[in-house]
Formats: sequence, C-alpha cells, structure tokens
Amino acid sequence: MHILIIEDECKTAAFLAKGLKEERFVIDVAGNGMDGQHNIDHIHYDLIILDVMLPGKDGWSILGDLRQTQKQTPVLLLTAKDAVADKVRGLELGADDYLVKPFAFSELLARIRTILRRGPIRQINIFKILDLEIDAIRHRVHRGGIRIDLTPKEFQLLLLMARRQGEVLSRTFIAEQVWEINFNSDTNVVDVAVRRLRRKVDDSFDNKLIHTVRGVGYVFEQR
Ligand code: CA
Repeated sequence: MHILIIEDECKTAAFLAKGLKEERFVIDVAGNGMDGQHNIDHIHYDLIILDVMLPGKDGWSILGDLRQTQKQTPVLLLTAKDAVADKVRGLELGADDYLVKPFAFSELLARIRTILRRGPIRQINIFKILDLEIDAIRHRVHRGGIRIDLTPKEFQLLLLMARRQGEVLSRTFIAEQVWEINFNSDTNVVDVAVRRLRRKVDDSFDNKLIHTVRGVGYVFEQR
C-alpha cells in the first residue's frame, strides 16, 4: 500500500512516515502543496494524508482538484483544532475522513485501516433515500417534498449518517465527527441530537431511516 503524506510540519511528517513504514506501508512525503500536487499527478497512491494548512497550495485546493479530475483516491484530512466548519467543507469536497490535531498515532492507523478496507466514498452532493433528499452543498433537506429545517449540528449529523449509509456508527465516532468530543467524554449529547433529528426527519413518516443498534450506536438505512 502506497501512501502520500502532504504535511509541512517536518516533525509531524517524519513521525507519521516512520510509524507507517513500521506498519509496512510505502510512504512518500511532500513538504508543501506544490510538491504534493506533483506527486499526485505522477504517482498512483492508495491513500493521501493531507494537511489542510499548507504553503504553496493548501489542502482544500488539492482535494478539490483531485475530485475534479475524478480521482477517487481516499483522502484523510488533518485539520486544526476547533475547526468544525472544516469538517463540513472537507466532506463536501470529498474527503473520506478527518483527524483533528493533535492525534494519537494509533488513531491515525485505525482510520487508515478503516478507509482502506472500505474503499473510497464516492463524492455525492445530493442524497436521495426513499423520499428524503439531502443537498450537501445548499444544506437543504426535504422529505416528501417538504422542507425540513435543521440546525447546523443536526445537518452535519444527518449528512454523516447518509454518507455512511448502512454502516453502524458508534456514539463515540459520531461524537468525534460532529462535535469533536473525545473518546471518554459523555456521548449522551449524541442520543439527544439523534432524538431531535428523528423527530424532524422520521417521526411523521411510516418508513424510518434512522435505526438504533443496541449497545453500539446508530445506522441510517432503508428497511
Ligand atoms: Ca500545516
């Protein structure tokens, strides 16, 4: 498996490269956006670890251009702390996953394995499941032709579930992705938000889309 790391912080890049080589991945490192772009243009990678803030060409442009060229190479974004909006933007641009700095190497490795196992997520901006329609660009949701108003968090939650349709998502995973809450924090916030989301999206319809998986979390699917 050939992985490209585009990261301008030398220490971080070296640390990641060393760890991943020990896991038997083949690693290339690019220290700025232009070099990273050059590698992408000339070499096939199984995965790209992409820092958002880069000199030369930033991670957004690289990701945007990559998807523009129809390349489905999975991308794991490294975002700065407290940049919740980055996650939504990254999703819209077609990133496969995120890690907020600083992160543990074990967490990075777990995410990489998950992405490689799953294969790339197709970049879709309009989701249609039964009579539910989600427009990821305009942040609009309709069900049965009726507009549903969601808070930004509810929208992020719904989009996350829709993008991973059929995948059981743990409360911890949801909390991390939507609220950037750490592993050991109270994930009750997830249950509360899912309940609110269900009230808006599912309750007045016969066919439910959000399902509870006991002891694990939630799955979004048509049954
Ligand atoms: Ca950086």
